[in-house]
Amino acid sequence: MPDESIVPVLIVGAGPAGLVTALTLRKNGIPVRIIEKEPRAHVGQRGAGIMPRSQELLNFLGVLDDIRAKSMGVVPIRVYRLPGGTEPIMTFSLDPAVAPTPSKPYSNAVVLGQNHTEEILRDHLDQDACQVELGMALYSIQPQVDHVLAHVLKKDGDQEAIETIKCRWLIGTDGARGVVRKQLGLLFDGETLGVTQHLVIGDIEIKGLDRKHWHYWGDMDTILVMLRATEDDAIYFLMLGGRLDLAKIVAERAELERVLRVGTGRTDIELGKIRYVAEYRPHVRMAETFRKGRVFVAGDAAHIHSPFGGQGLNSSIQDASSLQVNLGWKLALVEKGVAAPSLLDSYTEERLPVIAEMLKKSTRLLNEAARAKGDGTNSEKAWYRGGELHMLGVNYRWSSIVVDERIPKEDTPVDPYGVLKSCVGDIVRAGERAPDAPGLVVLRSGGGAGGQQETTSTSLFNIFGPSYHTALIFSDGTEKAEQVVSHLGAYPPELLRTVLVYADDIPSQATFDNADVSVVDRDGQAHGGYQVRRDEFLVVIVRPDGAIGGIVRGTEGAVRYFGGVFAT
Ligand SMILES: Cc1cc2nc3c(=O)[nH]c(=O)nc-3n(C[C@H](O)[C@H](O)[C@H](O)COP(=O)(O)OP(=O)(O)OC[C@H]3O[C@@H](n4cnc5c(N)ncnc54)[C@H](O)[C@@H]3O)c2cc1C
Repeated sequence: MPDESIVPVLIVGAGPAGLVTALTLRKNGIPVRIIEKEPRAHVGQRGAGIMPRSQELLNFLGVLDDIRAKSMGVVPIRVYRLPGGTEPIMTFSLDPAVAPTPSKPYSNAVVLGQNHTEEILRDHLDQDACQVELGMALYSIQPQVDHVLAHVLKKDGDQEAIETIKCRWLIGTDGARGVVRKQLGLLFDGETLGVTQHLVIGDIEIKGLDRKHWHYWGDMDTILVMLRATEDDAIYFLMLGGRLDLAKIVAERAELERVLRVGTGRTDIELGKIRYVAEYRPHVRMAETFRKGRVFVAGDAAHIHSPFGGQGLNSSIQDASSLQVNLGWKLALVEKGVAAPSLLDSYTEERLPVIAEMLKKSTRLLNEAARAKGDGTNSEKAWYRGGELHMLGVNYRWSSIVVDERIPKEDTPVDPYGVLKSCVGDIVRAGERAPDAPGLVVLRSGGGAGGQQETTSTSLFNIFGPSYHTALIFSDGTEKAEQVVSHLGAYPPELLRTVLVYADDIPSQATFDNADVSVVDRDGQAHGGYQVRRDEFLVVIVRPDGAIGGIVRGTEGAVRYFGGVFAT
């Protein structure tokens, strides 16, 4: 008899990492509880830059349309001459416009205050029958062999009560000061950056500034940046640093006003509402492992770093969910009883090197910002947020669960952000992000009667999903493709979908009876994107997180890949 009182997954903390984890698990049909210690939702724009790789993830989760409807593009930043503070020295884009391509449909960051992103995620979670339980603070955990006991203090107005939640798995997405990591006794190695890198952050209303730009004033003593992250909002996100009395700025409105006046040199701007201001001390730290038994840490609970580079929220949601694997789909498979718990070891194995690299990059950018001069020197370098920071190159080519029969796997992480990609001839490899490909003419979809040619066209990003693997079977016109389809057809469709990809006209003997979807690659984007010759047979297995799990030459390779993932 299953134990009715046990919660399959308890998520502690409803920031971006917790919300995305919960949504991924719900999309996989896994019941979850998500608790949050605060009695109400956060204010504050904080992690506002949503990178292209995260947009792909949010697209798989069905959230991206709502995010894009509310977000704005990255606007140019203006650096002003001091004293005076009104004359622009330079204007440049943090994220120079990159045109979308068929394989990379989301090519630039979008900006949306983190409070809005969280609200959208909560709405989607509500629609998936899961509500964040507010006012529930975890204070200790007791891991057992087959479950975890979580002790929670519930607050409702003046009322307080204790609840003990019994769960099979517990995920600590409770932020940098999280209880879960501390309860596990995990080392959190790294450093707290020096006082010159401490900041005041906040959401403040500023009257008198043009809204088409972000604004930057900097001299040797003060750096002052104002960003706006939502189109319909006059509230600016403030970052203020330098040799200032930060505690006094936070405590006294008059001091904030004075620093804004002195720091910008402007007399024509006025401070309006203050939503919040807080002192912020950047740390660079990472947990030694992201899993201990039945308990995981993800997001800021697992790694913290300078806010420069816009990688924090992005890395948090990518830890937690599908795109760069991680926790969501693996835990779902284990919960469904089709994967062994050892699959969960690959969460740390894959994410730790990526996060270590991310810490280096964001610290370098913070140091560049500290070196930026009031005359604009170094500013462009310090504020650049394009290229590798889009995270499209982040990969797991060394992972023990990926299989690559085209290019030998890396033994150890060589290039987790994919920066050196051109050195290996740009061939797509297992462990990397799976490219999109539009212009696929659907020959048959679903399990209906076969053989009927349809005219609808689709893209791979419409076919991939967050709860199942997708096997792209590139046909060479021989029977090999049909053989792989019938072999993989033994897996239930909720775990694996097969897609037969034809280069040109379909061979006369083709039946499409077995594959879940059969398509003609009308524009050659799938063959081009995955570097498959039009007369070549190849199988590319895409994981539920949109990373390539396997590139194999036939049934044997596919069996090897799925043997590693689905072994119970
Ligand atoms: C100034 C600044 C600028 C930033 N800019 C960017 C950016 O542009 N792009 C980017 O990607 N990132 C950015 N970040 C980083 C980003 O905000 C964080 O990385 C992100 O919030 C991490 O999400 P999380 O869900 O892991 O943690 P959090 O957002 O910290 O969420 C943790 C949640 O857990 C709750 N909690 C804590 N303890 C308990 C408990 N015991 N029981 C229950 N609940 C608990 C907390 O109340 C909180 O709601 C920035 C951060 C700052 C400060």
